[in-house]
Amino acid sequence: MKFSNSYAQLGDAFFKRVKPSAASKPELLLWNSPLAKSLKISEALQNNPSLAAQIFSGSQLPEGADPMALAYSGHQFGHLNPQLGDGRAHLLGELINEDKVRMDIQLKGSGRTPYSRQGDGRCALGPAIREYIMSEAMYALRVPTSRALAVVATGDQVIRDSIKPGAVVTRVASSHIRVGTFQYFAIHKDLDSLQALVDYATNRHFPEIDPESQDKTLQFLQAAIDKQIQLVIEWMRVGFIHGVMNTDNVAISGETIDFGPCAMMGAYHPGTVFSSIDQQSRYAFGNQPSITLWNMTRLAESLLPLIHNDEKEAIALVEPLLTKFGPSFQQAYLTMLSRKLGFSQPSETHSALILALLETMQNKELDYTNTFMQLGMSLDNDTLRQSLTESLGSWYTDWKSALESSTENLDMAKALMNNNNPVLIPRNHHVEAVLKACEESGSAQAAEEFLSALRSPYETLESTKNYQDTPSDGDKFYRTFCGT
Ligand code: AMP
Ligand code: MG
Repeated sequence: MKFSNSYAQLGDAFFKRVKPSAASKPELLLWNSPLAKSLKISEALQNNPSLAAQIFSGSQLPEGADPMALAYSGHQFGHLNPQLGDGRAHLLGELINEDKVRMDIQLKGSGRTPYSRQGDGRCALGPAIREYIMSEAMYALRVPTSRALAVVATGDQVIRDSIKPGAVVTRVASSHIRVGTFQYFAIHKDLDSLQALVDYATNRHFPEIDPESQDKTLQFLQAAIDKQIQLVIEWMRVGFIHGVMNTDNVAISGETIDFGPCAMMGAYHPGTVFSSIDQQSRYAFGNQPSITLWNMTRLAESLLPLIHNDEKEAIALVEPLLTKFGPSFQQAYLTMLSRKLGFSQPSETHSALILALLETMQNKELDYTNTFMQLGMSLDNDTLRQSLTESLGSWYTDWKSALESSTENLDMAKALMNNNNPVLIPRNHHVEAVLKACEESGSAQAAEEFLSALRSPYETLESTKNYQDTPSDGDKFYRTFCGT
C-alpha cells in the first residue's frame, strides 16, 4: 500500500497522532476484494488473510501509515459538544485509487485515543458487520457512501449490555472531514486553521472552485449544500433513515458516514424512526431534509468569520444560500419521485400524483420498496396490474394514463423505474438475523450470502427472494442503537 498523508500536513491542530491497539487474536472475517483492487492494494496482501488481519485490526502498522485520531466538535441532537473527535478510530492515511481519487483508510474499533472520553475505543462484532453490510448495500444502491474494506475479529471481549466479541471495521471514505470539523475551529476561534481546512476541503472535494476567487468560501458552502441535498434525496429514494444526523456525522464530501443506528423504512410513513436514543423523532425519515438544512446552517455559521469581517455582512451573504435550500430540495425531491414513477421530467400533474400516492401508501401502510417495484413490474404483468388497481384504486389508472401521455414508449418508462426502484434493500429484520447468525457462529458466511444478493439491488437474482419479505410485525418493535 502506498500511503500518502495529506491531512497530516495540515498540522497538529487537526489531529492527535496515536497508534491503534493490538488485537490479541486477529482473524479476518470480511474482505472486500473489489474495493481492495480499486485501492491498488498489493496482490501479496490481498492473498494473505493473516497479514490483512494483522494490518486491519491495527496490530501491525503498514509502511507509510501515519495513524491519527481527528479532532472535531458537533451538535448532538441539537446540543453543541465542543470536544468530540475520533474516540475509537484511527486514520491510517490515504490511498489514491484507480480513478485517481484520494481515499481515507480508517480503522474503527481500534482502541482508545485522546478523544475517547469515557469510551473504551472498541467496537463489537455486530455493529462492525452491520456497518460493512449497510455501507456496501448503499454503495450498490448507488447512494454516495463511505465503504468497508474489512472486518477483523479481534479475539478480545468488549463490554456492552453483555460481553460481546470485539472487531475492527476498516472504513474507506473520500475524506473524514465533517461539518463538526469546521465547527471545531470556529469554536476555538482558530481562523487560520479554519481557512486551511476550507482550502483543503475545497481542493479535495470541489476542485472546480477557483482558489483565487473572492467568494470562494461562499462557493464552497454552496457546493457542500448541493452535495447534502443530493445525498438526502438518494437516502429518500431508497427509504434509508440515517438515525443520527448529528453535525459530527455529516461528511462534507456528501457521503453517508456513521452507520450506527441507521435503518430502512418498510411501510411508508414520514415519521418512521427506529433509533432508541431518538426519543423526539428528530431524525425521522421525513425530517431528514429539514435537519440537513439545520446542519448546513451550522456549517454556514462556522464559516461566517471567513466570509466577512463584519458578522452582519457575512450573514447577509450566506442567507440567500440557506433560503434557496427549500426550493432546491423540493425540486430535486419531485424529480426523484417522478423518476420512481417513470416520468423523466416532473410536472404539475406528476406532483399531484406523487402526493396522492404517498398519502395512500401512508394510510394503507404500504411497503415503500415493494410498491414502487410492483408499479414498474405491472407495466407488463397483468396479475400485478390487477392487484395494484385493487389496492390503489383510481390512482393506478390515472398514473397509467399520465405515463402513456408523457412517453412514446412504455419500455423507457419501465427502464427508468427499474433503475430507480430497487428490488432489494437491506431490510431490518434480515440485517438483524444475519448479524445474529454471524455472532453465534463466529463466521461471516451469513453476511457474505446476504451481500451477494445486496450487491445487485436492481436485479432479481436466484437469492434475491430470500431477503425480500417484509417483517411479520411490520417492524413495530424494531429498535436500533448507537454502536458504542
Ligand atoms: P457516534 O455516535 O459513533 O457518532 O460517536 C460520537 C462520538 O463518540 C465520537 O466522538 C466517537 O468517536 C465517540 N465514541 C463512540 N463510541 C466510542 C467508544 N466505544 N469509545 C470511545 N469513543 C467512542
Ligand atoms: Mg460519529
